[in-house]
Amino acid sequence: MSGKVKSADDLYFNKDHNMVRQAVRDFVNKEINPHIDEWEDQRMVPLKKLFKKMGKLGFLGIRYDPKYGGQGLDYWYETVFLEELGRIQGLGLAVAITVQTNMATPAIDEFGNDYLKETFLKAAIAGEKVGAIAVTEPGAGSDVSALATFARREGDHYVINGSKMYITNGTQADFYTLLARTSDEQGYHVFSLFVVPADLSGVKVSRKLDKLGVWCSDTAEIFFDNVRVPVENLIGNEGEGFIYQMRQFQHERFSLLPFACTAMRVMIDLTVDYIKERVVFGRPLIKKQVLRHRLADWLTEVECLKQLIYHIVRLKQAGLDATREISMGKLVAGPLMSRIADGCLQMHGGMGYMNEMTISRAFRDSRLISIGGGADEIMCEIISKLEGF
Ligand SMILES: Cc1cc2nc3c(=O)[nH]c(=O)nc-3n(C[C@H](O)[C@H](O)[C@H](O)COP(=O)(O)OP(=O)(O)OC[C@H]3O[C@@H](n4cnc5c(N)ncnc54)[C@H](O)[C@@H]3O)c2cc1C
Repeated sequence: MSGKVKSADDLYFNKDHNMVRQAVRDFVNKEINPHIDEWEDQRMVPLKKLFKKMGKLGFLGIRYDPKYGGQGLDYWYETVFLEELGRIQGLGLAVAITVQTNMATPAIDEFGNDYLKETFLKAAIAGEKVGAIAVTEPGAGSDVSALATFARREGDHYVINGSKMYITNGTQADFYTLLARTSDEQGYHVFSLFVVPADLSGVKVSRKLDKLGVWCSDTAEIFFDNVRVPVENLIGNEGEGFIYQMRQFQHERFSLLPFACTAMRVMIDLTVDYIKERVVFGRPLIKKQVLRHRLADWLTEVECLKQLIYHIVRLKQAGLDATREISMGKLVAGPLMSRIADGCLQMHGGMGYMNEMTISRAFRDSRLISIGGGADEIMCEIISKLEGF
């Protein structure tokens, strides 16, 4: 190793990565965290305003083509950005941001025509349009292939009918990247992916959903009633949407890992601060070996997850498929985050149960990682299939 390596982070990140890290950290500290309590209370972040600021700083298109306003950087830079989102004191906003960068736009970038890139990708990168990903339906979540929303071709348009459930950014979105059936046949080549502008006639937010956690992120059920979408809004080829969405899921699932990892570290750090101060039976709680060991156990598991994330980044950088490792990462991250949040809250005692404490919000928010973007059991299914079980 060269003499320039002064810390473990230097093995992965250079001066330029660190500059991006500092810029994102500053933004979170100055433009996000001071407002997060208010946004949690309002059950909404003014995304149009916030995304414009983020777009100006180049945060919303780190990996995307400079032709469409992106930074043209690699997965290490994206990881730096995602890691810093874990410092947001409301996981809901980290999710809302990654919907824009890693869930609603990767398929447009990879398979979209020039019109879609010019109109939607460019605007999403600039923060001028808010995106949402519309896959889940009331009758189709884990089993994506059960979805019923139908897009029927009529001349130069597709006519879309159906409804989508649990759509993050749903009430504010300017466009939905939507998966629909385009044929009555069986199999996987009967779905297509579309970009559906939210202002088309027949698109209706049927209800804003009330949730256990991630309050600052707005989540909605959206109804599509005879929505006429021009054929140029089809992403790639008709019938290939399922395949595109499975690829897009890899960007989505990966994006959850770095911010979850940081959020776990933040929960542990704030718990350490608390139990150093809290005196019980005449001594600070941190003096209890059982608590210190529990903290050490969690940190060890978080470090293992972090190393898996960096391994995934290496695979991605090399152009290799990382589906197996991303699924494993998500399968580790969800339950670990729930366990750490629960344990940290426990160490706060009654104070941990108070809504004024960051840890109670983190506890509520953490539960999502085992469900959103594919439940833990679905990750097990993917890993089993890839292993040939
Ligand atoms: C806050 C929030 C935001 C979301 N945002 C979006 C969004 O923006 N866009 C979008 O399209 N979707 C979104 N979702 C939907 C999310 O991806 C789904 O909730 C998730 O995929 C699970 O689907 P489901 O809720 O229909 O659960 P179901 O499919 O009904 O499954 C219920 C449970 O059954 C178990 N299970 C399922 N399959 C198996 C199996 N094969 N073996 C064993 N057990 C199994 C799992 O524990 C699972 O959690 C969001 C969800 C939430 C809660």
